[in-house]
Amino acid sequence: MGIVVQKYGGSSVADATGIKRVAQRIVATRKAGNDVVVVVSAMGDTTDELRDLAEQVTPLPPPRELDMLLTAGERISMALLAMAIAQLGHRAQSFTGSQAGVITDSAHGRAKIIDITPGRIENAIRAGAIAIVAGFQGVSQDTKDVTTLGRGASDTTAVALAAALGAEVCEIYSDVDGVFTADPRIVPTARKLHRVSTEEMLEMAACGAKILHLRCVEYARRYDMPVHVRSSFSQKEGTWIIPTAEGEEMEQAIIAGVAHDRSEAKITVVGVPDKVGEAARIFEALAAAEVNLDMVVQNVSAAATGLTDISFTLPREDGQTAMGALARIRDEVGYDKLLYDDQIGKVSLVGAGMRSHPGITARFFAGLASAGVNIEMISTSEIRISVIVDEAQINDAVQATHTAFELDASEVEAVVYGGTGR
Ligand code: ASP
Ligand code: MG
Repeated sequence: MGIVVQKYGGSSVADATGIKRVAQRIVATRKAGNDVVVVVSAMGDTTDELRDLAEQVTPLPPPRELDMLLTAGERISMALLAMAIAQLGHRAQSFTGSQAGVITDSAHGRAKIIDITPGRIENAIRAGAIAIVAGFQGVSQDTKDVTTLGRGASDTTAVALAAALGAEVCEIYSDVDGVFTADPRIVPTARKLHRVSTEEMLEMAACGAKILHLRCVEYARRYDMPVHVRSSFSQKEGTWIIPTAEGEEMEQAIIAGVAHDRSEAKITVVGVPDKVGEAARIFEALAAAEVNLDMVVQNVSAAATGLTDISFTLPREDGQTAMGALARIRDEVGYDKLLYDDQIGKVSLVGAGMRSHPGITARFFAGLASAGVNIEMISTSEIRISVIVDEAQINDAVQATHTAFELDASEVEAVVYGGTGR
């Protein structure tokens, strides 16, 4: 008998009906002869609603208390799910992240898993019960306070737990049938991918594809854990995320898909003296402020002035911190001014096959041009090309790129079963 870890997202357990439907699925997996460990998210938009509530009380909730509040969301769904399974005549026990042995550092709101000691989970399954674990939370090794792992991190709890338990597979259930060539909410003719390499999935997750949390894909790769992404609303086979060993080439399409991201902003430092050490000073200040950078571009300096512009993108939520840090070094660096733009979006084309196919960039940019989309910045990796465009043009850019690479299905395959898209 193997262990199967199943993770159910918020839209799969949005109400009592959803919880009962998920309970049926879990029991069916148990009856098929597996040991089942379930990781569950908070019901529907509960996490957002709890956040909103906190903000009504104070604009700056203390991080420890915010984590205490948000982890309550998963406690609600785990207990209800255990009750629904009991109602079906099977034994189930729910556990908080702390009880499940998810040990983290103490960075509230973005804690990292340090270790998993799932003794209580192992005991529960040994005793024949189905274990239900609250996603996205753990307990700090140092302070013993409750922590959260970051938004969307129940996926990461699931894969990390699957690795710690030596599970056969980690199934991630959401409200779409798998990983698609683009977000089906924007491109209705997007196609379901049957298999994606962890390498490609890492790039897609890092480029804004919300179907899987980035750190969960990193875990899957590190621990060679097969991940099956599928819908809890249908019985269809979903997408397998396959860890590819180095050198082992999967038979694959040139392009895996098109991802987009609406969470970034762009800062331009205008009129930087083109001298040795200026860029270092700017990026040291940003690093000291713990700002995560994404793309960086420096223009050639104008010969007449010897001044250059440096632009970079960063998470919108770090925008004010970064502007503050740069303002403080203005005299030292001697730049002209700072420009801040958060009406931007990133569109990325991902595919391991692009390594060996020239002309991908030209085709991508021609597609964008045909849709009248202007490119503001470009960055590339071995298997990805990303562009920054005007936020208002993201949907057009994603659709045009999807079409330019002939990814559209002839009939609509994608069904969006639930979720409010929040
Ligand atoms: N409930 C948490 C969130 O909404 C964690 C998760 O759903 O993965 O971010
Ligand atoms: Mg989620």
